[in-house]
Amino acid sequence: MKVTDYIKKSKGKTLFSFEIVPPVKGQNIQTLYDNIDPLMEFKPPFIDVTTSREEYVYIEKKGGLLERKTTRMRPGTVGICASLQHKYNVDTVPHVLCGGFTKEETEYVLVDCHYLEIDNVMALRGDSMKHEQYFEAASGGNKYASDLVNQISDLNRGKYLHETIESQHPSQFCIGVAGYPEKHLESPSLKTDLQRLKEKVDAGAGYVVTQMFFDNQKYFDFVKMAREIGITVPIIPGIKPVAVKRHLQILPQIFSLDLPETLVKEIEKCSNNKEVRQVGVEWAIAQSKELIAAGVPLVHYYSMGKSSNIKAIAKEVF
Ligand code: FAD
Repeated sequence: MKVTDYIKKSKGKTLFSFEIVPPVKGQNIQTLYDNIDPLMEFKPPFIDVTTSREEYVYIEKKGGLLERKTTRMRPGTVGICASLQHKYNVDTVPHVLCGGFTKEETEYVLVDCHYLEIDNVMALRGDSMKHEQYFEAASGGNKYASDLVNQISDLNRGKYLHETIESQHPSQFCIGVAGYPEKHLESPSLKTDLQRLKEKVDAGAGYVVTQMFFDNQKYFDFVKMAREIGITVPIIPGIKPVAVKRHLQILPQIFSLDLPETLVKEIEKCSNNKEVRQVGVEWAIAQSKELIAAGVPLVHYYSMGKSSNIKAIAKEVF
């Protein structure tokens, strides 16, 4: 079922969902199940599965030489989606990226999703590779998430890249896109970034999931600004509990976001990461309760592969 239909059907009751990351190549899928199992009692209508683009790895050769190879370390997004659907009877939302994929390869992924009766996909640009200063699309790939949304919308109209095919059985993907309450790090202003978000919605996106934020007011202001420029689709807040002291530096650096002073002070007082984790859980509980009281359709949690803190939050909130 489509994410937007779940929201309509819930009739104002806030839903719970979360995102998982595929294991590194060579690991067992059981670890993933062990982390998902404890969260299923909160009845997520869907689970998001991220996609990673390729990266450089260095292989040591004789004589101390290093050979550089390009590989995707966490493949398997669509396979994991199929496996979760089968095991838990839950909808899954595979993330589809521009970065590192040609449009042709993206089409194959979408065809697989269509055959697997996956109803939702999350359309994202992805980040630049570590050595690149700016994002560069693959040759023959989509440059912006809005281009990817257009490709998926075309497929929903039965139009494949190979234009002679006209399908009598078009896909009907509900398309999610990313939104940034504190603006995307490359964008010159929040206003410009919101216009880019509107382009994604105008191209066919049915809902937005936000980047993590730690100050709910940022989300409320963002939603207000989005509504003012005519974005009417659901805007789902994304929440991540702080888990280690290092997050104080890493989160602002990677995601270009602010941590509220009170949260920073609470974390700085902690003498170990167990205490930090507890602060992170309590902060996320307070954020979630306020968002629910404000009537958000769904709260989406970034699990980053570990579910115990998400369970601690969900137990208090759902
Ligand atoms: P876009 O919407 O394309 O925007 C990227 C930048 O380009 C923005 O600054 C925007 O303002 C600008 N822009 C957009 N259109 C134009 C235009 N026409 N002209 C000029 N500028 C333009 N990353 C992963 O690698 N894998 C994942 O699974 C993943 N999942 C995510 C899930 C969520 C909910 C979120 C919020 C992010 C996720 N990301 C993921 C990270 C995401 O890929 C990065 O934030 C990426 O840098 C931007 O992706 P986007 O889809 O927002 O890009």
